[in-house]
Amino acid sequence: MNNSEMRARFREIRDKVESEQRLTLDDGIFLYDPAVPLAEIGALANLVRERKNGNVGYYNINTHLNPTNVCVYRCKFCAFRSDLRNPKGYVFSDDQIIARGQEATDAGCTEMHIVGGLHHQKPYEWYRHLIELLHENFPKIHLKGWTAVEINWFEFQTKKSVKWVLEDLKAAGLGSMPGGGAEIFHPEVRDQLCEHKANTHAWLDIHKTAHEIGLRTNCTMLYGHVEKAYHRIDHLIRLRDLQDETGGFQVFIPLAFHPENTKLDHIKKPSGLMDLRTLAISRLMLDNVQHIKAYWIMLGIETAQIALAYGADDLDGTVRHELIYHDAGATTPEHLTVDKIKDLITEAGRVPVERDTVYRRVIRDENDYTNWSSGESVDPVLVAKV
Ligand code: SF4
Repeated sequence: MNNSEMRARFREIRDKVESEQRLTLDDGIFLYDPAVPLAEIGALANLVRERKNGNVGYYNINTHLNPTNVCVYRCKFCAFRSDLRNPKGYVFSDDQIIARGQEATDAGCTEMHIVGGLHHQKPYEWYRHLIELLHENFPKIHLKGWTAVEINWFEFQTKKSVKWVLEDLKAAGLGSMPGGGAEIFHPEVRDQLCEHKANTHAWLDIHKTAHEIGLRTNCTMLYGHVEKAYHRIDHLIRLRDLQDETGGFQVFIPLAFHPENTKLDHIKKPSGLMDLRTLAISRLMLDNVQHIKAYWIMLGIETAQIALAYGADDLDGTVRHELIYHDAGATTPEHLTVDKIKDLITEAGRVPVERDTVYRRVIRDENDYTNWSSGESVDPVLVAKV
């Protein structure tokens, strides 16, 4: 394609976005051509971002809990997992879990993000107990826990249906599900990375079932390893199709691959330009997902901040105790203060708004930071006001 053909093709896409028409697989693949200027894709993504979320930059105050790193699987991109007998392997006790809940409460956290390994010797009841323990002791904290990979494992352990498992966890206190484990759906890639764990059909079916029983979920894509543009766009379209059916995804989070300490450590980590291009294209392709998150832990603070002008409207949270990406060489800090995350958003020209896990505005007592409540949904009421 010569330069004027390239310009004409981009104009077609711009016209579609401006008139709110859906982009196709071919459109998405075209936008990954490095000859298409990133700044122009970014400007287009920003148009959609501001149409959907105004000038707001969302963040939350949250903490992570990875109760065990012992895992039956050996995903090639994973630096977190451990074998049972490896000295690196650990399992949290109830006391340690309670201590984490207390620390989160004292820090004013509204959310605990809970994911981990699939421990050979821990029955489903242990994973359920952990949710119940936290919920009973810290009922205000929203528990966003267990990816579809874990739910698939629980299904295998209990020999019950996905619906039964999800309803049982919901009864124990589960509030919503994170979007991990999606990696890349296309079998050409998935079979190379993690052929044994929950397959694409299972991942999508578990999220669909979660939406059907009233659990909101997030969705992700791990990019920058062995996949090509075609696989990324195919992945986004599969998510978009499910969202058309259920409307249950609240945010999409593109996850940049970190190679250190993984079986793919010969691969170079994606560049900042690739990160921004992927964020922007995600915003353009996922016309039915309200939020796009620039997960600062993976992207780095600087890229995440710029991403607020490339389609992203959310920086994730202050985060405590993140292990999974730090084990894979992430050099970001393990925690951001509330002031720091608000400054990052303000400096990017956006209005910082604290949200809870299900995107309601958080209202805090000015004199007691740990005293908070959830207000109205930020979608789309708040956007009109900023
Ligand atoms: S990504 Fe998750 S399922 Fe795969 S090896 Fe790591 S901990 Fe286990």
